[in-house]
Amino acid sequence: MRPRRPTRQVTVGDERTGRVRIGGGLPDAAGAETAPAPVSVQTMTAGYTHDVDRCVAEVNRLAAAGADIVRVAVPERKDTQALPEVLAQTRVPIVADVHFHYKRALEAVEAGVHKIRLNPGNISDREQVNAVIDACKARGIPIRVGVNEGSIIERKDKKRRAEELGSFFADRRQGHLLALMIAKLEEYLDIFREREFHDIVISAKLMDAASVIDVYREISHRFDHPLHLGVTHAGPRETGAVRSIAALGALLADGIGDTLRISYANDPVFEVEDGLELLYSLSLRDRRGVDLIACPTCGRIQVDLFTLVQDVRRVLADEITVPMKVAVMGCVVNGPGEAEGADVAVFAGDRRGIIYVQGERVANVPEGEILDRLLAECRSFQARVERGEASLGEKKVEIVPPDPIGELGSGFEKIASGGVAAPASVTVGRT
Ligand code: SF4
Repeated sequence: MRPRRPTRQVTVGDERTGRVRIGGGLPDAAGAETAPAPVSVQTMTAGYTHDVDRCVAEVNRLAAAGADIVRVAVPERKDTQALPEVLAQTRVPIVADVHFHYKRALEAVEAGVHKIRLNPGNISDREQVNAVIDACKARGIPIRVGVNEGSIIERKDKKRRAEELGSFFADRRQGHLLALMIAKLEEYLDIFREREFHDIVISAKLMDAASVIDVYREISHRFDHPLHLGVTHAGPRETGAVRSIAALGALLADGIGDTLRISYANDPVFEVEDGLELLYSLSLRDRRGVDLIACPTCGRIQVDLFTLVQDVRRVLADEITVPMKVAVMGCVVNGPGEAEGADVAVFAGDRRGIIYVQGERVANVPEGEILDRLLAECRSFQARVERGEASLGEKKVEIVPPDPIGELGSGFEKIASGGVAAPASVTVGRT
């Protein structure tokens, strides 16, 4: 595991949902050491909380996808009134997202929610904040203080506030806004300190990835509370994924960040899947299920590899729970080297696929049978791992690539000579 920035530790959830720890590394309130918890993945429901059946179904679907914590919006009284029913039918810690109406926070606490998110940009009345802090303290419920560039309300004062904060962001894009967000956080957290409430997680989200990196680096120096990472309004998954991974990946690689939400204008299941994949990629979480590697294809390809990879991914995502490495490679020329360490691998070529299990060749099948045979080998391998008859990551024998011109062939010459039809998606030869 990479070294992580030490923080106080916050715990979300109860006996029924299981407790999710966020952050750690600094002593707790009793002076006991805490170890940094695995970075957790959060998401937020897209539907109405007061639509109980749909809300419950969505929360449970997100939990099944791997979400550690799920946030729900509670804009109206009918939403907080629905919370007891939602909580009773779900098994994952629930966060109530509160904006504008501090009473929604009090109602959510009363309903038994596991965490409150407050936005300093729209609930700033000191007495109201104090009321929420006291209610959370009485119930042992943490609060996320989440500033967001879209709801910083003192925009008219930004020049003066930026000057007050000095010039530490003077050379940064959106420097005045970053300074303003940090000032808002400091001012807000003073209220919590005065109440001796430290069960806090902090976030400061913007749309611009570079600014997100800048602001979180700065707040990681200024506060010892765990940090909730996110890029706000990141957009559709196609572009939002790059924006989010650029920002969150850079921070996590530096040991900054204790929980995260990737946000897309799309099904929140994608937020969970991509958040987990980011953490797996950085070795910040132990992988659950298949680690699928696949080649990008090139002029040697002679099967419809893109379809094969998607079919393998879709089926194995549902069926495989052990973290086996599966490689789907387009040819035997570079495939074996690129698939190094795979538990199950297929190397395709000349409309066939050779399948290996931990380096041992188990099949050579025509293209139409590759998917079924590969899936069967993966299922069989998982069963052997579960029975203790096989271990992940072992390689029994070296994969010896077949003769590239013989058994499977590099293909280029065969295709060029008309011996093999090129897949529709592949252009052969120079134009
Ligand atoms: S495995 Fe073969 S087909 Fe795939 S990219 Fe590498 S060389 Fe090309």
